[in-house]
Amino acid sequence: MVAMSELSVINARRPAAFAAVSDEEWSDWRWQHAHRLRTAEALSAVIRLRDDERQACERATERFPLAVTPYYASLMRPDDPGCPIRLQAIPRLAELERHPSDLADPLAEDEHRVAGALTHRYPDRAMLYTTHSCAVYCRHCNRRRKVGDPTSAPSKDDLRAAVAYLRQHPEVRDVLVSGGDPLSLSDERLDELLGSLRAIPHLEIIRVATRAVVTLPQRVTRDLVGVLRRHQPIYVATHFNHLAECSSEAAAALYALADGGAVIVNQMVLLKGINDDPAMVGRMNQWLLKNRCRPYYIFQCDPAVGISHFRTPIAAGLEIIEALRGFTSGLAVPHYVVDLPGGGGKVSLQPEYLLRREGKRLTFRNYLGKTFVYDEV
Ligand code: SF4
Repeated sequence: MVAMSELSVINARRPAAFAAVSDEEWSDWRWQHAHRLRTAEALSAVIRLRDDERQACERATERFPLAVTPYYASLMRPDDPGCPIRLQAIPRLAELERHPSDLADPLAEDEHRVAGALTHRYPDRAMLYTTHSCAVYCRHCNRRRKVGDPTSAPSKDDLRAAVAYLRQHPEVRDVLVSGGDPLSLSDERLDELLGSLRAIPHLEIIRVATRAVVTLPQRVTRDLVGVLRRHQPIYVATHFNHLAECSSEAAAALYALADGGAVIVNQMVLLKGINDDPAMVGRMNQWLLKNRCRPYYIFQCDPAVGISHFRTPIAAGLEIIEALRGFTSGLAVPHYVVDLPGGGGKVSLQPEYLLRREGKRLTFRNYLGKTFVYDEV
């Protein structure tokens, strides 16, 4: 078990560009945030950029900003253009392309907006936008139409209106606190927001969706854990996409959150050439479980503008589930879901195990391909 006192594990692979940085600074999330790499020049001190990546750093970032924490950059393989961390954080020229099926707001979140910062689409749950700031701007972000743009960030009035709406709607029993990344807020603002949500008696579940555990695990401080503990029960939804993100720092952050009483689940986005690899996903999910985080969803990549180069065929997701189911703990097998474009909601997909139905006799195949019969009564 990783104890709270071990939160500041030092990354052994710290790039030479940061050799002079003290351990104390490196472990401080504010230092990490303030020293994010935001230009091709800054990135070049850490990794060898190709010409097309340099161009993309200028052209693609006119639409969606670039920011990489020194910590997340330290996970990159400096000379490997296929490095899965790099592919998620460094712009590519393909972001400038638009596929005919791309949508600015693929999940119709704006259409279902009921108050300044709240989307209410499903019967008993709603999603609250807190900020459009993130530690790292993931190139596959499906909310890139707004994320990273401070002018579109929810105001205090928007947040107040959202809380007022929730107070008036007893059918909502579950709120997803999202963004951007809610952990971009200060502890004080997060405490205030979670407190106003927890004061709503019918709001049973508060979920906090964050990628900071992956891109800025230093953000999980004792004070932050104290804030989350105060407003239990809190579910934390992380966003690990690759085993290369599963560092000792991330493990310490997961342990600290779990020790603080949070229930942690992971939402992976399926990304072409990055994590469409069943064996890797299996190992990552086992690592997550060992570190007290339950793999919950694999999301099919949404048809948002500028990210179609990340989209895999549906078969790739089914192949991952097929490779996991039966071969490892069911706890390591997430739901593979497509969030239907236009706001249709999530549908869960899995390989076909029911081969035929003859009256009340059903024939299945198991994970090894052997057939078995089940008779209904
Ligand atoms: S952390 Fe989430 S909201 Fe922020 S850029 Fe990444 S995917 Fe988008």
